[in-house]
Amino acid sequence: MERKLTVLCATAHPDDVEVFCAGTLIRYVKEGHKVFMAIAATGNVGSKIHTGVEIEAIRAVEAQRGADVIGAELIMMGYKDGEIWQDNPTWKAYVDLIRRTNPDVIITLDRDDYVHDHSNVGEMVYRAAIWASVANIPETKYEPIDHIPTVFYCETTGTYHLAPMDHYVDITEEYEQKLKAFKQHKSQHGDFLEKQFGIKDWFEYVEVVSKLRGFQCGCKYAEAFRVVQTWPNHKAYRLLPPVQFSKNSEKD
Ligand SMILES: [Zn+2]
Repeated sequence: MERKLTVLCATAHPDDVEVFCAGTLIRYVKEGHKVFMAIAATGNVGSKIHTGVEIEAIRAVEAQRGADVIGAELIMMGYKDGEIWQDNPTWKAYVDLIRRTNPDVIITLDRDDYVHDHSNVGEMVYRAAIWASVANIPETKYEPIDHIPTVFYCETTGTYHLAPMDHYVDITEEYEQKLKAFKQHKSQHGDFLEKQFGIKDWFEYVEVVSKLRGFQCGCKYAEAFRVVQTWPNHKAYRLLPPVQFSKNSEKD
């Protein structure tokens, strides 16, 4: 039987996945792999007209709809926006998340991204991935897994990161489905983001970045990633779609 992967996508806010890597997750699902989407924060600051309680309820529904379009299983971790810090309890929460989902591949946010919710999730997910297979960590709820997952970082917001991306996924056939997932986050597509960031059309942003990455790798639309460049994070076969195992990878 062909080997299938489990993929954990761990991001900060309810619409991050759709902006950065939804096309890739859709491809994983199409290939028959299991995909989890773990969203750290509720999105409670994502409105200038709703209260925090109101907007996080709205965004929980939007996040579920987005996950449904992608075909992923959603996990909401319940942190508040702006309150994701690199501390011991949060790192252990990520150790437990990785143990609970037991992924072969983790896609997370770049640890140099623009806002600390993003950068802290990226840093802690990677630092937790190394330890999820270790026994005897106090105050963790789940049993250690039997391997260290491979971690990839997404695009930085605005493509600011100077390090070149090293992995590309052709999402030309998945692009409309990615947009459909992004459209589920209606609360973010009024004038909120324009007031916050001065960008009127985030769909245009998604299109420009997807086309740029497609141009770089010879297809119409693409998403780009950086593998975390530390030992023992590499594998001798391709873990991003199209997933391609080597002859010996069943044993790896
Ligand atoms: Zn975000």
